[in-house]
Amino acid sequence: MDTPNALSPDKQINGSSSRSPSDASNIPKSPKITKGIGDKRSDLDFIFGKLIGEGSFSSVYLAKDIHTNQEYAVKVCEKQLIRREKKVEQITREKDVMNILNSNQNPSAPFFVKLSYAFQGDYKLYFVMTYCPNGELLKLIQRVGNFDRECTRFYTAEILRALEHLHSLNIIHRDLKPENILLDEKMHIKITDFGSAKILTQEEIDGVDDGRGRKNSFVGTAQYVSPELLENKRIGPSSDLWALGCIIYQMVSGLPPFRSRSEYLIFQKILKLEYEFPEGFCEEAKDLVQKVLVIEGDQRLGANDKNGYPSIRSHPLFVKMDFESLHLLTPPKIVPFMPNVGNEIVWDQKNKPGLKPIELELMLGLDLKDQKKKGSESETSKKTGKKNIADVADEEYILRLAVQEKENKWHKFVEGNLILKQGLMDKRKGLFPRRRMFLLTTGPHLYYVDPVNMVLKGQIPWCPAITPEAKNFKTFFVHTPNRTYYLEDPEGYALEWCRVIEEVKHFYYPETTT
Ligand code: ATP
Repeated sequence: MDTPNALSPDKQINGSSSRSPSDASNIPKSPKITKGIGDKRSDLDFIFGKLIGEGSFSSVYLAKDIHTNQEYAVKVCEKQLIRREKKVEQITREKDVMNILNSNQNPSAPFFVKLSYAFQGDYKLYFVMTYCPNGELLKLIQRVGNFDRECTRFYTAEILRALEHLHSLNIIHRDLKPENILLDEKMHIKITDFGSAKILTQEEIDGVDDGRGRKNSFVGTAQYVSPELLENKRIGPSSDLWALGCIIYQMVSGLPPFRSRSEYLIFQKILKLEYEFPEGFCEEAKDLVQKVLVIEGDQRLGANDKNGYPSIRSHPLFVKMDFESLHLLTPPKIVPFMPNVGNEIVWDQKNKPGLKPIELELMLGLDLKDQKKKGSESETSKKTGKKNIADVADEEYILRLAVQEKENKWHKFVEGNLILKQGLMDKRKGLFPRRRMFLLTTGPHLYYVDPVNMVLKGQIPWCPAITPEAKNFKTFFVHTPNRTYYLEDPEGYALEWCRVIEEVKHFYYPETTT
């Protein structure tokens, strides 16, 4: 077992921080984190549970304090790996920033993962932090596709409030992105990952830093990085506002504004401010994004504000938003926004066509085979000279599969299964539709293929809980436990798709349907 000692931030990690918090004159010196917080802790004080996630040089576990029963996320880093990967400075900086936040808590901006204890053993470092059971904002956006206006407004306000506090301490995050925004048990945000953060020096705060010797090595993540960082210009708190603009865009549309095949191409787009708003983008959010995604850092909305960001707070997106009580509010229910989806569809689903009888018979035949009824029935049919349904289905299945193999160019994607229904549809990721060929097969499977590049892109996973929901003649949802898929049939057969999916579901999981 790793023998733990209390971590002394100044001594334990070789190389220490390039800039200590005391560089920023108005920031209180950071306390050693094991002092003043309570008893010293070691790994023996925790029961380690499941692995929550893995970073490039750390593993994060859910752990319980054996004295208090309190749950924490414990980040465990191998010292040797940190030295080898030259991450000492990053880890030290992360700890320094979290210490500053600990000793400068703002009750109306409790939007940061808190470092409660840090200690080390012979081989490992341990960071005991607030556990955020609802995971990353990114995963949430990906799961639901995008956010409606109310969700976007609320989460933007919380991020803004967090930035107001962070910047008041002269700290720039520099890697703000939806992966680094976690959600606590009540669905409020907790910003994390301060490894790329910068604690501004007095010269930088006063703007008398002449920039000599400045070398903005690329930190952060390509999609959210600001133009000034790419161009080696002065960076400041408004670099985080740029990232906020990218995050608002992503919450509304489902994807970040600057996207391309490579980091290089993304950087080119950022420098040229080359991005577009998809159809249906909330107008107020669009206006805010346009005012924040401005190449010159000092021209961004809020960049010249003092004491927080009053000019952003007063943007029309935030009408009636009480920024001081956000932490007390119940966050809005996560609801995606889909253009062209109203509640206008009420129609008689019973009269619409589903699978043709032969397809059902085929499936019925397969079912009989599965139940090993076929053998005995075949005996009967031999005696009577009549073919039973399983035989018919069997022959028909083989025949149709042979024809499919020969004539259907989508056959190669379906792993030898028989295609029951196929059609081109738009699969929506937030506000962005992607044209895909959908292939519903025996199995059951629902494959989707990029028809231009002829590449299998994935499958909608089948399970007894799968539920199609028609929204109108073109649009329908397929709900699965982990994700809702938004599909649009340009031909207007949404209803038929829903019915067929229901029929296949009923066939394979009869107990789930009445
Ligand atoms: P890298 O180190 O490569 O930048 P990272 O910052 O994501 O990656 P970690 O901070 O080690 O690495 O986090 C790893 C994973 O653990 C992430 O997916 C993150 O969502 C999850 N995680 C980190 N901290 C917490 C926390 N306090 N509560 C819940 N999950 C967390």
